[in-house]
Amino acid sequence: MSLDVLVIGGGNAALCAALMAREAGASVMLLEAAPKAWRGGNSMHTRNLRCMHDAPQDVLEDAYPEEEFWQDLLKVTGGLTDEHLARLVIRASSSCRPWMAKHGVRFQPSLSGTLSLSRTNAFFMGGGKALVNAYYRSAERLGVQIRYEAPVDRLDIEDGRFKAAYVNGERIQARVCVLAAGGFESNREWLREAWGQNERGEWPADNFLIRGTRYNQGVLLRHMMEQGADMIGDPSQSHCVAIDARAPEYDGGICTRIDCVSLGVVVNQEARRFYDEGEDFWPKRYAIWGRLVAQQPGQIGYSIIDSKATGRFMPPVFEGVRADSLPELAGKLGLDEATFMQTMNTYNAACRVGSFDHTVLDDCHTEGVSPAKTHWALPLDTPPFTAYAVRPGVTFTYLGLKVNDQAAVHFGGRPSDNLFVAGEMMAGNVLGKGYTAGVGMSIGTAFGRIAGAQAARAALTPQQMETQRAAA
Ligand SMILES: Cc1cc2nc3c(=O)[nH]c(=O)nc-3n(C[C@H](O)[C@H](O)[C@H](O)COP(=O)(O)OP(=O)(O)OC[C@H]3O[C@@H](n4cnc5c(N)ncnc54)[C@H](O)[C@@H]3O)c2cc1C
Repeated sequence: MSLDVLVIGGGNAALCAALMAREAGASVMLLEAAPKAWRGGNSMHTRNLRCMHDAPQDVLEDAYPEEEFWQDLLKVTGGLTDEHLARLVIRASSSCRPWMAKHGVRFQPSLSGTLSLSRTNAFFMGGGKALVNAYYRSAERLGVQIRYEAPVDRLDIEDGRFKAAYVNGERIQARVCVLAAGGFESNREWLREAWGQNERGEWPADNFLIRGTRYNQGVLLRHMMEQGADMIGDPSQSHCVAIDARAPEYDGGICTRIDCVSLGVVVNQEARRFYDEGEDFWPKRYAIWGRLVAQQPGQIGYSIIDSKATGRFMPPVFEGVRADSLPELAGKLGLDEATFMQTMNTYNAACRVGSFDHTVLDDCHTEGVSPAKTHWALPLDTPPFTAYAVRPGVTFTYLGLKVNDQAAVHFGGRPSDNLFVAGEMMAGNVLGKGYTAGVGMSIGTAFGRIAGAQAARAALTPQQMETQRAAA
């Protein structure tokens, strides 16, 4: 029997598309590059999605109206976003949870200390791993054919129409295809090419860690570029967080994040501060620190706190380097003690302490030091002192395929009528740069569902759709 919809990828966006297409009556096959144990891409590492709501709703407090969500997105992207597509994602985020719940996803209120997201973000019970497991279970139950260890390396495309995909030499034909195979963040060679060499002769990407899956190699992104698909986004833009330098090369996930930056200071390998650690609330700033560290010599930084910060942030999985004095800490970190002490003494002397309150943009700030620390500036004077070495941790890249509001891939400005795309592969349409926590899953869920629905529509006749609806 011929196949209606082929979905390429095995994370949130692919699963949403597969479920929607199957629910609409299409026969669906999903190809996941990873083995079953590693299925789910970056989605298995997630914890929540950002949701618009006008009043308190199950796990969400208060209200988070469309306009506020839009303004948040506008701010972090600096205008590099498509308002029409962004608002579509925002509105879809208000109504997707009952559908997610129908497929087995359970929600819980945010834990305290998790970037204060209880108003804006719905947390998945059991995290992203439980979410993808629930979707896979539902997909199997509905009869989606699932193949693991099935990396697609190229497609047959004629005049903007999908014909077939190739997996290890095997040709798989389908009426319609949905691409949801992630970004290229796991491909170090491509990251190297995108970041280039810096003025110090370093290749910064050599020191990047990949927070998620190793399977998002960008093979299909590259292939689609070569096929002449319309692209969007800058390859050097990514969601990049400063993470524990001891994290593994791939799949370190959420527990390697270092969340104490705004409670202390950060110095580079030369023992100098380089950015305002208290510029804004951490949820609004954590995603710029990967890039900031990437610009430092050796792509390494040291987040330093004293004992006053203990208990005020989610502790990382590995213990930090501890010392009873700042000179001892410099020694343990291998930093030049004289420069380090000058940096710390200058910072400490510049602190103008008011009423410390980490939950508001408080009045504790520095004067006469550059860079300034504009909030939560307390002198680091209470031992023991703790330091965490941090490196850039790439979450996902923003280069993607240009889409319209029906998730269609475009060639020369014309939408394909049987090739659709969702998730990281098109997130750059909404997120040209920057990030606001939870919006990756909002984009993937909205566009995964649109792509699945459109794919079924393109594969089935209106009569077949009607019969399916009647049967359902
Ligand atoms: C540590 C971490 C935490 C995060 N936390 C959050 C969060 O809490 N909230 C949020 O909104 N976002 C979060 N994100 C971002 C989020 O993971 C992504 O935005 C989202 O998962 C993208 O979904 P996707 O389906 O497009 O990609 P993925 O989930 O990465 O799925 C891509 C899939 O494609 C497969 N694949 C790749 N190439 C091929 C190929 N050639 N053939 C076949 N299959 C292929 C991969 O194996 C994978 O299954 C986090 C990311 C990381 C790394």
